[in-house]
Amino acid sequence: MPEMYDVVIVGGGIAGGALAAVLARSGIAVAVLERDPVPLDRVRGEFMAPWGVAELKRLGLLETLAEAGGIFTKRSIPYDENTPGDSALPFALDLSAILPDVPGPFCMSHPAMCAALAAVAEAAGATVLRGVEKIDLLAGSPPTVSFSRDGVAAEWRPRLVIGADGRNSQVRRQLGLKVLADPPRMLIGGMLVQRVPEWPQDLQVIGTEGRMHFLVFPQGGDRVRLYLCYDFADKAPYSGSQRQENVIAAFAGLTCLPYADAISRAQPIGPFNAFSNEDRWTEDPTAAGVVLIGDAAGHNDPIIGQGLSIALRDIRLVSEIILADQWNQEAFRPYVEERLERMRRLRITARLAVTLRSEFGEEARMRRQRAGRRMRVDKMLSPVLASIVGPERLPAAAFEQATIDALLAS
Ligand SMILES: Cc1cc2nc3c(=O)[nH]c(=O)nc-3n(C[C@H](O)[C@H](O)[C@H](O)COP(=O)(O)OP(=O)(O)OC[C@H]3O[C@@H](n4cnc5c(N)ncnc54)[C@H](O)[C@@H]3O)c2cc1C
Repeated sequence: MPEMYDVVIVGGGIAGGALAAVLARSGIAVAVLERDPVPLDRVRGEFMAPWGVAELKRLGLLETLAEAGGIFTKRSIPYDENTPGDSALPFALDLSAILPDVPGPFCMSHPAMCAALAAVAEAAGATVLRGVEKIDLLAGSPPTVSFSRDGVAAEWRPRLVIGADGRNSQVRRQLGLKVLADPPRMLIGGMLVQRVPEWPQDLQVIGTEGRMHFLVFPQGGDRVRLYLCYDFADKAPYSGSQRQENVIAAFAGLTCLPYADAISRAQPIGPFNAFSNEDRWTEDPTAAGVVLIGDAAGHNDPIIGQGLSIALRDIRLVSEIILADQWNQEAFRPYVEERLERMRRLRITARLAVTLRSEFGEEARMRRQRAGRRMRVDKMLSPVLASIVGPERLPAAAFEQATIDALLAS
C-alpha cells in the first residue's frame, strides 16, 4: 500500500467501486474503505435504466458486469388491474429500441455487481480495504480521513476524499451538510427469490392491483427480484417474522399477472427489507477536499429505479474533473449544478409515479387509466420517459406543474 493516495473513497458499493475502477485505470492512486467484510444483500437496486446502461458503457464497465452475470430485459408488459393478462400485450414496450446502442435495461444481483466492480478496481491497481470501522473525516486542503481496521488505527491525508457511503452517509453527517427531503408517501421493499423457471428472463413487469404496486425484474437462471410498494397502513404483514411468506403470497394473489402462480412456488434467497420512499438531497454535496457521490449525495425515490444510473452519471462527471487534474472544491461546480437539476427532474418524475401507481382505490385506478391513455394514445407531454432515457433528454416543460396537472385532470 502506498503511504499517500490521491483519492480515498469511503464506501465500496456501486458508486465507490465503479469510481475506483475508473480512476485506477487512469493511473490515479486510489483506495476504497468499505465497512462490510463482503458485499451483502441489503435490498438495493438490481434494475439499471437504459440511460444508466449508456453511462456504464461510456465508463467502460458494461462488459465486465455482463460477463459477471448481468442480463438485459427486452420487454416490459404492463400487467395491471387496468390491463390484466393478455389485454396488456398490445401495450408491451420494446426496451431494446429505446436508446441507440443500448440493448435494454440491465439486471444483476447488487452484491455481485459490487464484487465485480471492486475486482476490476483492484486489478487496475486500487487498494480495497474491507471491514473498515470508525471512519472520521475532517474537510480541508488536504482533507484528513482516519479509520481503524483489525484494531489498527490509521490516518491519511489524500488530495480528495469521496463520500460514497450510501443513503445514511456518515461522511455527509460529519461534514454537517443540510439534507432536504420530500414527505414520505409509502413503503417500498424488495426480496430476491429463486425457483421461478417459468419467468421469461427478458421480461420485466411494473403494475398495480388492489392495494399493491409491484415490480418484477429477472436476475438470471430461475431468479427474480420482487419489489413491492404499499401504504404505511398496510405494513403489518410485511414487517413481522412471516414477511417473506407474505410477500410471496401477495404476488401469488395477483390476478392480473400471468406468472403469479409460478411466483407462489418461489423460494426467498435474501431478506425482505422495506424503506420509506421519500427523496433526500443536498444542494451542494461538496466541501473543501471532499465530494459526495451516489446515495450519499442524495437519493431519488426507489419507485422509479434510478439510483444506479444516478450513481454512474455522478462517477462520469466527477472522474472527468479529477482526470483533468482539477482538485479544488470550485472545480466540482459543474457536477453540483448538473446534479441539482437532474435530481429535481427525477423527483418530479417519481412524485408522479407514486400518484399514478401507488395510490390505491377506484378513483386512483381510473386516474391511472386516464393518464395512461393521455400518454400512450394522445401523446401528451409527460416526465415519465425521463426514468428510461435520462432526465436531460426531455424538454423542461415536461417537468412543469401545468404538464402534470393536464395528465392528472379528471
Ligand atoms: C428498496 C430499494 C430498491 C431500489 N431499486 C433500485 C432499482 O431497481 N434501480 C436502481 O437504479 N436503483 C434502485 N435503488 C437505489 C440504489 O440501490 C442506490 O441508489 C444505489 O445502491 C446507490 O449506490 P451507492 O454506492 O451510492 O450506495 P450503497 O449501495 O448504499 O453503497 C454504500 C456502500 O458504503 C458502505 N458504507 C456505508 N457506511 C459506511 C461507513 N461508515 N464506512 C465505510 N463504508 C460504509 C456500505 O457497506 C456500501 O457498500 C433502490 C433502493 C432501494 C432502497
